[in-house]
Amino acid sequence: MDKIKMTTPIVEMDGDEMTRILWKMIKDNLLEPFIDLKTEYYDLGLENRNETNDQVTVDSALATKKYGVAVKCATITPNAARVEEYGLKEMWKSPNGTIRAILDGTVFRTPIVVKGIEPCVKNWKKPITIARHAYGDVYKNAEMKIPGAGEVELVYTAQDGTQTRELVHKFEGPGIVQGMHNICGSIESFARSCFNYALDTKQTLWFATKDTISKKYDHTFKDIFQEIFDNEYKEKFDAAGIEYFYTLIDDAVARVMKSEGGYIWACKNYDGDVMSDMISSAFGSLAMMTSVLVSPEGVYEYEAAHGTVQRHYYKHLKGEETSTNSVATIFAWTGALRKRGELDQNQELMAFADKLEKATIDTIESGYMTKDLALITTIEHPTVLNSEEFIKEIAKRL
Ligand code: NAP
Ligand code: MG
Repeated sequence: MDKIKMTTPIVEMDGDEMTRILWKMIKDNLLEPFIDLKTEYYDLGLENRNETNDQVTVDSALATKKYGVAVKCATITPNAARVEEYGLKEMWKSPNGTIRAILDGTVFRTPIVVKGIEPCVKNWKKPITIARHAYGDVYKNAEMKIPGAGEVELVYTAQDGTQTRELVHKFEGPGIVQGMHNICGSIESFARSCFNYALDTKQTLWFATKDTISKKYDHTFKDIFQEIFDNEYKEKFDAAGIEYFYTLIDDAVARVMKSEGGYIWACKNYDGDVMSDMISSAFGSLAMMTSVLVSPEGVYEYEAAHGTVQRHYYKHLKGEETSTNSVATIFAWTGALRKRGELDQNQELMAFADKLEKATIDTIESGYMTKDLALITTIEHPTVLNSEEFIKEIAKRL
């Protein structure tokens, strides 16, 4: 059999621990036997990030800008324990944070739906994708404890020195206060990423804030989305047969619960933080959640939503058997291959991505799965496979 050829490389970002082990197994068993794989390889494993003073992370993000498509393995975000474990020169920043800042992107998280792993919400038939704005609000706040009576004001000092003031509260006793901000440019990028991704995946886009209460702050989000939609996307949405739908956040939550899924839900930073955990756990498993970072210019970086599965890795190091779910990492690869195929008009590559996803889903639906899924499946007497057996079982079907 001739291997599928690629014309443009995919940026490949290798990672850490158990997911790094799965990464190699996936390439060896599911990709390289079928594709003449062309990648520009960046080793984002913690040792190499430390070795290069994290330059490798910056380089991989710049390469992603250049080529347009990347696939990333989960990586360790160092904390004090990791600094000691790996003898790090410093506590390097989260690679995802660094890449997101360079690409100015929005993260879209989507559950992989299979028969036998049923969502807790019984009317959810199709995946719900969460898009979380990744800048500002309460995540970049300024807070104060107010010890006693006194006034708190917001003060804006323009560059010419003129001031505008707004009373927050006249305290009569102790209390608390919080100031937060966002930037119109960031909201615009968020909006464009969401509209592009909706067109790309041919799904309706929902957006919700609390604009009835927050008449300037949240209302600005609403207005920016509407203006960009009307000026740049309305016709494209009509042509694609999809909609942009704005509502109040409480109404959105109620509608989500009653919906059958199959749309993108754009959320402000805090709403996205909270709602993505609800959506992922209600759909069944973090190990079945994919994630893609989309820049407003249409650059894509695919990954699994879960981490490096450290606990399984330590078992693996001790020579014990692991049953780690590789589905989200496989789908990160298929997402990247399909997008590369689309951009290069490489039909074979796109068809391969579809076949690999189908083989993966068929494997689970035939009752062959890793332990995490076996614990929650409605399929009777599932066959529990170890990490490698599961990937080999997919290869057989592929
Ligand atoms: P994690 O790697 O997501 O794993 C947490 C637990 O979830 C695991 O111990 C396992 O439960 C279960 N799990 C997650 N993915 C699984 C899979 N594919 N198959 C089977 N079970 C799975 O989170 P963590 O242990 O909190 O974080 C480990 C490292 O990952 C940290 O250093 C963190 O910085 C990093 N991280 C990276 C990313 C990223 O690169 N995007 C995201 C999050 C975390 P059981 O142990 O019960 O089997
Ligand atoms: Mg959270």
